Amino acid sequence: MAKYANVIIDISHEKLDKAFQYKIPQELQQELAVGMQVEAPFGNGDRKSTAYVVELTDTPEYDVSRLKEIKGIVTGSIPIESQLIALAGWMRRNYGGTMSQALGTVLPVKQKSTEKKQRLVRLVLSRKKAAEQLALFEKKRHTARARLLSGLLEQNPLPYEVVTKKLNMTASVIRAMEEMGILAVEEQRAYRNPLGEMKRERKRLVLNEEQRQAVERIWKDFSQGNYYTYLLRGVTGSGKTAVYIELIEQVVRSGRQAIVLIPEIALTYQTVVRFYQRFGERVSILNSKMSKGERYDQFERAKNGELDVMIGPRSALFTPFSNLGIIMIDEEHENSYKSETLPRYHAREAAIERARMAGASVVLGSATPSVDSFYHAQKGNYVLLELEKRIEEKPLPRCYIVDLREELRQGNRSILSDKLQELMEQRIKARQQIMLFINRRGIAGFVSCRACGHVMKCSHCDVSLSQHNNGRLMCHYCGYTSNMPKECPECGSKYIGGFKAGTQKIEEIVKKRFPDAGVLRMDFDTTRNKDGYEKILSSFANHEADILIGTQMIVKGHDFPNVTLVGVLAADLSLHVSDFHGPERTFQLITQAAGRAGRGKLPGEVVIQTYSPDHYAIELAQKQDYKKFYETEISYRELMQYPPIGHMLTMLTASKDELTAILSSELLANKIRQAQEKGKLSGLKMIGPSDAGIAKVKDFYRKVLYFKHQDYSVLIQIKDVLEQFVNRHREFQNVTVQFDFDPMNGF
Ligand code: ADP
Ligand code: ZN
Ligand code: ZN
Repeated sequence: MAKYANVIIDISHEKLDKAFQYKIPQELQQELAVGMQVEAPFGNGDRKSTAYVVELTDTPEYDVSRLKEIKGIVTGSIPIESQLIALAGWMRRNYGGTMSQALGTVLPVKQKSTEKKQRLVRLVLSRKKAAEQLALFEKKRHTARARLLSGLLEQNPLPYEVVTKKLNMTASVIRAMEEMGILAVEEQRAYRNPLGEMKRERKRLVLNEEQRQAVERIWKDFSQGNYYTYLLRGVTGSGKTAVYIELIEQVVRSGRQAIVLIPEIALTYQTVVRFYQRFGERVSILNSKMSKGERYDQFERAKNGELDVMIGPRSALFTPFSNLGIIMIDEEHENSYKSETLPRYHAREAAIERARMAGASVVLGSATPSVDSFYHAQKGNYVLLELEKRIEEKPLPRCYIVDLREELRQGNRSILSDKLQELMEQRIKARQQIMLFINRRGIAGFVSCRACGHVMKCSHCDVSLSQHNNGRLMCHYCGYTSNMPKECPECGSKYIGGFKAGTQKIEEIVKKRFPDAGVLRMDFDTTRNKDGYEKILSSFANHEADILIGTQMIVKGHDFPNVTLVGVLAADLSLHVSDFHGPERTFQLITQAAGRAGRGKLPGEVVIQTYSPDHYAIELAQKQDYKKFYETEISYRELMQYPPIGHMLTMLTASKDELTAILSSELLANKIRQAQEKGKLSGLKMIGPSDAGIAKVKDFYRKVLYFKHQDYSVLIQIKDVLEQFVNRHREFQNVTVQFDFDPMNGF
């Protein structure tokens, strides 16, 4: 029972890190919880104010005699902010970091900046009429007018500044076209609607038997007030999205709201349109390209009851719906659901917690569920629902595995195997399309033998060693290092080294080999500006190119009916990442990539190139045998005590001074050792300190300590102890300390 409460007076105007401390009167100590609204005297005149409790503590930060006392708990209707603040408290407890970091994550904060109203240029003709007009302008060589009109046909409305600056229009051209009744210049409405005016058609799918059963099961539980977490495993193209939409419609009809989480890169026009067709203006989206103001506006619309459905990446989870009924997480296995900034929460776990607080259901959907989620489903923590059939019973594509070691033996040193080249040639002749997929951008850290496929691994941790700048090989789990071998310890070949394969390089090779084919490349570099991504996709969809080369981005839920060949150029790149998720990620990526082939009328084929053709992740992905993969993988995790069986915590210490970074890590390690010597924390394994995966960032040296334990709550205890220790000791003044539970990408 805490004695002091930190409160914030007002969410929209005070900075969140400006909390005020109050004494909690005895009679309230039991009852008071984070998120509650209280009455507190504030300011010089002790003005009666309503405040939110953001933190409870036993340590006063100020002279106790000068602390004011909380007057009472506000009863009556509970604002949605209370729930979100409580969620922030949960996040802070479970993932570490400060309360203001957690609050900043869950609460939409209005920026102080006075955003001026934006002017927009809006097309007022129908698309058909506009296209006719465009042809007319072009004929008459009114190039400026034609340029503006085709700009508006691409995006409507356009910000006034874009029209004048990017499209180089003068005010008189705009005015002239306004007078012709082609466009209108208008002031932004109070709340910006990112979907603009999409066309809405009411097309309704009739669910098949499997889909119907899934919907009915969840709806039956829901309507009886049983809110569970469901894992919906459905092969690609089995109609999961249709299930989400149907369910959400029922939930919305019962007066409650829905959040749909989608990985940012899968948040495509196609997906949004499907939701828009059902929910019209009652649906909105969030994405990282929106300004803070725009995001804030969407949250306001949600809070004011103008929306029923919010779609977006991780952060959409914090949409302030006051009567939330259901949370969907599509592609739940995706890495991007784990936050890589503080607090390092996992959206799946946070969603389940938010749903618990709100009394809502959670549906996790994937063709290749994370090993974690499937494990929970096996344990009965989640309800497993499965869609086994593809819509229209389209067969899964045929899948070849190419052994790259064999290619080398045959004298083919190209990244394109003979088999792949042969199939590509066929496709280009037949005017069908091809996707080539490289699991990663640029250089991977691991070292392997191109003759026998041997990968240099840590003998203690069974993960790949990473090549560091100094040329040495290092394990990111235990700090073990070794020299770079000159020849393969397995077969003696000299073809051993780092694995390099970038999208750009591949593009060159492909263009050289197929000079007449149209080639598009999609990676971080070509999609950096605002519309790069959509442009490449729509250009490929319109068959302006035969071959699309890309990273992870291209395997996400796009429908290209004319793609009949998918090549996975080097499955090894994800297999040998420097942590234990390699096989899981590889299985997922191959399955997703394969799901891109043969989505139209023509059957598809997939070529997987690899130096490890016998690896279970690759063999089972070829067979599309998820269950067998899961069983193999979970027994391996059991053996190694890796999550979800055992748990891990990484602690980072970073400082501009390397010695300080090491010493603080040592100091904290000692603190834990002392506890262990007293017989506490039994079963705990501590490894390190050693260099972090990225040993130096922006002049900060980074050291890590690893903790492993069966029991997640023990790791939380360790975080609490260390966090307090850091807060109380001046030695850590110039040191950043961060925690990461069950890390996905690591520090
Ligand atoms: P998933 O999300 O499992 O990959 P989708 O929901 O995107 O699958 O469905 C794949 C395709 O099948 C989409 O084009 C969708 O419109 C269509 N579809 C889904 N359910 C049905 C159905 N019951 N009847 C006809 N077509 C359907
Ligand atoms: Zn070898
Ligand atoms: Zn190791």
